[in-house]
Amino acid sequence: MVKKPVKKEFTAEVSRLLQILTHSIYSNKEIFLRELISNASDACDKLRYLAAKQSDLKTEDLKINIKIDEKAKSITISDNGIGMTSEELEENLGTIAKSGTKSFIESLSEDKSSTMQIGQFGIGFYSAFIVSNNVKVISRKYDSEEVNLWASDGTGSYSIEKYTNEHPIGTSIIIEINEESKDFLEYVNLKSIITKYSDNINFPIFIIERDSSPDEQINSASAIWMKAKTDVTEQQYQEHYNLISHNFDKPLSTIHYKAEGRYEYNVLLYIPSARPFDLFDQQRKAKLKLYVKRVLISEDTEVIPAYFRFVSGVIDCADIPLTVSREVLQENHILLSIKNAVKNRIISTLTKMAKDENETYETLWRTFGAVIKEGIYEDFEKKSELLKLFRFNSTKSDEELRSLDQYIKDLKEGQKSIYYMTADDFESAIANPILEGFKARDVEVIILTDPVDSFWTTVQNLYENYELKHVAHAKDEIADIDITDKSHKRNNKKDNSSNVSDLLPLISKILVDNVSEVRSNASLVDSPACIAIADNGYDKTMQKILNERQGFQVSKPVLEINPNHPIFGLIQKKAKNNKSKQVETLVRVLLDYALIMDGEKPHNIKTFGKDILELLNNVN
Ligand code: ADP
Repeated sequence: MVKKPVKKEFTAEVSRLLQILTHSIYSNKEIFLRELISNASDACDKLRYLAAKQSDLKTEDLKINIKIDEKAKSITISDNGIGMTSEELEENLGTIAKSGTKSFIESLSEDKSSTMQIGQFGIGFYSAFIVSNNVKVISRKYDSEEVNLWASDGTGSYSIEKYTNEHPIGTSIIIEINEESKDFLEYVNLKSIITKYSDNINFPIFIIERDSSPDEQINSASAIWMKAKTDVTEQQYQEHYNLISHNFDKPLSTIHYKAEGRYEYNVLLYIPSARPFDLFDQQRKAKLKLYVKRVLISEDTEVIPAYFRFVSGVIDCADIPLTVSREVLQENHILLSIKNAVKNRIISTLTKMAKDENETYETLWRTFGAVIKEGIYEDFEKKSELLKLFRFNSTKSDEELRSLDQYIKDLKEGQKSIYYMTADDFESAIANPILEGFKARDVEVIILTDPVDSFWTTVQNLYENYELKHVAHAKDEIADIDITDKSHKRNNKKDNSSNVSDLLPLISKILVDNVSEVRSNASLVDSPACIAIADNGYDKTMQKILNERQGFQVSKPVLEINPNHPIFGLIQKKAKNNKSKQVETLVRVLLDYALIMDGEKPHNIKTFGKDILELLNNVN
C-alpha cells in the first residue's frame, strides 16, 4: 500500500529564508553547487568514519555524481554517503539549526538590496532554491532498505513520502533549474564552478551528461594540506603552490603543519622565491584560501598580515562554522586566534631560516625585505622580532647582508647609536660626503635604499636600547669617537666652527633662495660641504612621498660646510678683498657639489654650467 505524502509546514525562519531566496536576484547564484557538494562530501565523510569504526560495514567507493538532464531541465547531485531517514529529512530540511543561516536572515532586515553577495553566507541546503522552484531529495540511510522522498516548491511547505523505486544508499538532490538559471545546465559551466570552489573536496566528483557514463573526474581531490608532511612530494607542493598563488616560480620555503591546541587546523603556506607581480598592489592581501573541512569559505581574509602578503597558502579549520558570514568571519574568535598563531609561525620560520639557512634567508630578504619592513610600523607588538629579521648593506659590507645583532657586536668604543643613511641606491649613498666622518672613525653606517625605509625609521626605533639614528642627526654624537684613519688625523676632535662663523651669514645670504639653512659640520673630512636634514625634519624621500600624497611642502635643503676645508680660508680672503662675484661663484658651486653628491641635480643647471666654466677658465 502506498502511503500518502505527508505535508508539513516549514518553520517561520525557513519560510522567510525561502521567500528571499526565490524572490531575489543574486549575483553569485553558483554558490548553491558549492553548498550541496559540501553537504554531499560531509555525508561521505560521515559514512567513511562509521566504516572505519565498524569493520563489518562495507561501503562502495565514496563519490559525488552530478547529473545533467537537459530534457527535464534538472541537475541531480548524488552521493553514496550516510543518507537520511524520513525523520532526519524532516529534522534537517524543515528547520534551520545553524546560527550562520540565522545571522544571514537577520542581516537581510538591514540590507534589503537584491544583489547581495549571498555567497559569503553558507546557507546550506536551502540555497538550491536560488536556482529552482522545485527541489526533491531522495535519501536512503546506509543501514536501511527504506527510501524516502522529500519535495518542496520553496513556498511554505514540503512533503515527505515513501519512495517506491530503487535507490542506492545515499542521497540524491534533484533540482529543477528555473528559466533564469538555465546556464547551469551546461557541462562547461558546472565544471568551472566545481573547479573553482570544490577542487579539493576529498571525494571524486563526476559530471554525467544524459545517460553517458562519466569518464573524467572533475576535481583533483587531493587536499594535500590535510596530509602529513611526509606524504606529500616536492612536486605536489610545487603544483599546489602554482595553482593557488598563480605564480610560476618554485616556493623558497613551505610551512606545513597541523595545529592541535585549543583549535584544530591545518596550515600549508608557501614563501615564493620570486616577487609576485601584484606585491605592491593597493589591496596588500595575501593569497590565502580558508577552508572549513576542505570546503573553501573565503579567499578574502586578513589572516596573513599585510607585511607578509607574499606568503600564499591554505588554512583549513574544522572548528569555524561553515555558515559564518564574511563580515563576522573577520572577527570570529577562532580565526583571530589562528591569525595570531600563524603570524607567529611565519616569524619563527623566518627566524629559524635566518639562523640555519643563511643563503636562503638572504634571497628571501632581498626579495621581500621591503615588504616585511612595513611590519615595523604596522605591528607594534612584533616590531622587535621583525627588527631581528632585518638585513642590510652597510659601509662595512656591500655584498653580504648584515643584521642588527652583527652591527651591535661591532660597535666602536664610545658609539651611542645605530647609524643609518637613506638613499636611492647603494653607490650614491657611499659617495655621499655626509659619511666621511663615519668612515674616518670606521663607524659602520647602514645603507637603506627602499622607499619604505624613510617611513619605518620615522617611528622612534630602538634596538637593544640603541637608537637608530640618521647620519644627518649624528654628526655631533660621533665627534667623541676616535678617528682611526691616519690620513684624517688632521681633522681632530676640535670644533673649528668658529673658523667659518662669519662666513655662515654670508653664504646664507648668497643662497637665500636655495637653502633653508647653512651650518657647520666638523665631521666632514675631505669634502667642503654636504646636504643634511633639518633637525626633526624628514629625509628627502619621505618629503617627496608626503608631497605626492598630501601636498606636503618640500623644504629647501640644509647645507653643511666643513670648517676645516681650505676653500673657506680662500673665500674669506676674497670676501675681505671685495671679490664678491668670485665668492658667489664659489658658494654656488659648493652647493651644487653637495647636491650632486646627495644624488640630486645642481640647483640651476644654467648657472652651474657657467660657474664651472668660469672656474675652469681661471685655473692657473
Ligand atoms: P549544514 O550542512 O551546514 O548542517 P544544511 O542546511 O546544508 O546545513 O543541511 C542540514 C542538514 O541536512 C545537514 O547537517 C545534514 O545532516 C543533512 N544533509 C544535507 N545534505 C545531506 C546529504 N547529501 N546527505 C546526508 N545528509 C544531508
